[in-house]
Amino acid sequence: MALTLKGASTQLCFDGETGALTGFTSLLTGWDFLGAGHSLSFELSVPREDFPGNTVQGSANRPKSINAQSDYIEIIWDKLTDETGEVLDIEFRARVTFTAEGAVFGGRLTNRSEYVIEHVAYPCFGRLERPAGSEELDMMVSAYSGMWKTPLYPTFATMSGYWSSLYPLKYNGSPESPYMLIQACGEGMYFGRHDACPDYRLAYFSYLVPEVRDSHTFRYDRATAPSGERPYVKLGAYHLVFLGQGSEKELSCVSAEPYIGTWQNGLEHFSAWAARALPAPVIPQWAKELHSWCQLQMSSYGYGVRYRYAELPAIGRELIKHGVKAIQITGWTKGGMDGELPCHDTDPRLGTHDEFRQAITELEEMGIRVVLYCKFVFADMRTRRFSEEYVKYASRDVYGLVHSFGGYPYDRPAMISGMNAHRLAIMCMNDARWRKACLEQLKTILSLGASGLLFDETFSHCACEYCFDASHGHPVPAYSFVGDIALAREMRQLCEDMGRGDFLLGGEALPALYRPFYGLSYFRFMGNDMPDYRYIDPEYPMLCTAKALEDRSPLNFCLMYRTLISYEPHHFKGRIADFPLLLEYGTRIDALRSRYIDRLWHVRMIPTGGYAPEKSGICASLMVSVKSGLKTLVLVNVTEEEICVSPPHTGSWTVATPEDSEERARDALIRIPPLSAAVLFEPRASRQE
Ligand SMILES: [Zn+2]
Repeated sequence: MALTLKGASTQLCFDGETGALTGFTSLLTGWDFLGAGHSLSFELSVPREDFPGNTVQGSANRPKSINAQSDYIEIIWDKLTDETGEVLDIEFRARVTFTAEGAVFGGRLTNRSEYVIEHVAYPCFGRLERPAGSEELDMMVSAYSGMWKTPLYPTFATMSGYWSSLYPLKYNGSPESPYMLIQACGEGMYFGRHDACPDYRLAYFSYLVPEVRDSHTFRYDRATAPSGERPYVKLGAYHLVFLGQGSEKELSCVSAEPYIGTWQNGLEHFSAWAARALPAPVIPQWAKELHSWCQLQMSSYGYGVRYRYAELPAIGRELIKHGVKAIQITGWTKGGMDGELPCHDTDPRLGTHDEFRQAITELEEMGIRVVLYCKFVFADMRTRRFSEEYVKYASRDVYGLVHSFGGYPYDRPAMISGMNAHRLAIMCMNDARWRKACLEQLKTILSLGASGLLFDETFSHCACEYCFDASHGHPVPAYSFVGDIALAREMRQLCEDMGRGDFLLGGEALPALYRPFYGLSYFRFMGNDMPDYRYIDPEYPMLCTAKALEDRSPLNFCLMYRTLISYEPHHFKGRIADFPLLLEYGTRIDALRSRYIDRLWHVRMIPTGGYAPEKSGICASLMVSVKSGLKTLVLVNVTEEEICVSPPHTGSWTVATPEDSEERARDALIRIPPLSAAVLFEPRASRQE
C-alpha cells in the first residue's frame, strides 16, 4: 500500500509496509527526483568492537507504527535488528511535515542499547533521477568563497580515496554549508538544514552504485553494471550524533523543496528561513560604506621583523594618498605572524606596547581604520604556557589524544617544507577556560585603540570538530560550532562592557550561520564566481584580496558582487604603491562605484535571468538599486582577448567602464577589453513607462 502526501510544491510517497520513501516529485515541473527501486528509509551506524561497520538498515526493520495524514506522517521503528542479527533497544521516530519551508524531515532517536550510535541517516533517497531532458545533474554547496559545484551525472569522481570506501562517494556538510542544491538544467532541488544552533555535524553523503565506467573520464552514463542495471546515485542526510547509551536526540530538520531556475533561485529558500531565524549582525557604519583596505604583515615567525610600529604613520600617509581607508595589520604579535599562538602581546622587536598604541592612534586620526589580525582557535605546542596550562583546554579525539596539526610555515624553504613550522594544537572552543583565555587576549587587543579585529580562521578546526575530553565541562562529545558561537557572543559582550560597542569583529570566509555574530567577512579570491553569500546577505560587508601585479580578475569580481577590495602587494608584505597597475585599476573600480553608488553599491543581487549574454569568456551579475529599483548589469571579460557582446533586453541602456566612467549611450556591440568590465544601466525612463 502506498501512502501519498502532497504539499504546495512536492508530492511524497511512502511504502505503507516498510516506511521507505518511494516517490518524491516536484509539482512545479513534474520532476520525479526518485527513480524506481532501491527505496530507503533510514540507516544507523552502531559500531561494535568486532564489527565497526555494523549498521541498522531501516529497510530490514518493519515499523512499529505509521501515522499518515494528508500533510504529515510519523513512522516509528523500535527494537531494531542490526546487521549481525542482534535486536537493539533503539527507537527511531521519523516525521515528515509540509510547511512553508517545503517537505520537512525530522526525527527523534532514543538509545537504550549498550552501543554508541555514530550516525543516523535520514532522509535517504535510494536512487536519484534527473529531470526529463536534463543531461547534467550537479551538487552545489557553499565553500570558502562561494558556491562550489561537483557533478553527479554524467560523471562522478569520488571525493575520498578509492581505498577508503566500497563505492565512489561525495560528501559535504553543515554548518559551513547549511544548504545543498541538486541543480539540473533550469530547475533544482533545495536541501536546507534549518537549525540556527546545530550541536552536531550533518553531512550529505552521496554514493555511486556500483562504479563509474572509466576511472579517467569518471563517466557512467553509458555504463551497465553486472546486475544489468545502470549505475545510480543514492543520497542521504547523515546526522553524526555520537549518541551514547541512555540518551535521546531530536535531529535537526532537513527541508527539501524544488525550485525553477538557477542556484540563485534555489538559495531563496534559505534566505527566507535565515531572515526569520538568524539575528542581525552588529556592523559599524564605516564597515558598511564603500571603501578599500590593505593588509600588511609586520613580521612572521619564519622571517622576523619587516616593519616596526613607529613606521606605521608613514605607511598610513601613503594609504591616505591613494584613498585607502582601512588597514589590516598582521604579524604585530609576539614572535611574528602565527608565531606564539594564542599570545597577542606586542613584540619588543617591533617597539613597545605604547609605541604601537600611539601609531594606531595616529592612523585612526588621519582617517584610517586599523583592524588587528588575531587567531583564537589554535595554541603553539612548543611553548611553556601550552605544556603547563593550555594543553588542558586542547580538543581531544575519542582516543584521548590532543588534536593537532603541522602549523603554518613562513618564508624559509625548510619551514615551507614542513621541517620546523610551529606545531599547533586545535583548541576546544567548548571549554569555558579556553574561551576565558581568549577573552584575556581580546582585552590586550582592545587596549590598543584600533577600530576592530579580524579573527583569522574563525571556524577552522582542521576537521577535528568533536571534542571527547570529559574534563572540559561540556557534553561528550561537544561540537565546535557551539563553542565558536559562544566565543563570538562573549567577545561582543566584552567589547560592550569595555565601552567598545562599535568595535568591528571580523572573521574569515564566514558561512551563513556565523555571519550574525561578526560584522565583516574577509576572504581570498579563489576564482569562484558563485557568491552565494551575496544573494543571502545583500549588504553584508565582504572583503576580497587583490594581490597580483594587476589582478583584474578579483577586482572585477569585487565590482560584480559588491565586495570591498583588500590590496595586498607582495603577499601583504609590501607597500600600497608597490604594484601601481593593481592600485590604478582598483581605484578606477571604486571611483566608478562611488560615482554610481545607488546603482553599484546600494543594491541587491538578482539572478541574471535572460540579461546575461551567453558568450564564453563573459561573466555577468545583475543588481537592483534599493533606492530606484533600476537594474544594473555588470559584464566582465575574463579572457586575454577583447570580446564584443550584445546583451539581450538592454538596447536602450547606457554604459560606463572602469576606464571611462562617463555614462554613454551604448553601441549595438559593446567592446570589452581583455580582463576588463562594462557596466550597463537601465535608464530611468524605462521604469516610468
Ligand atoms: Zn573539549
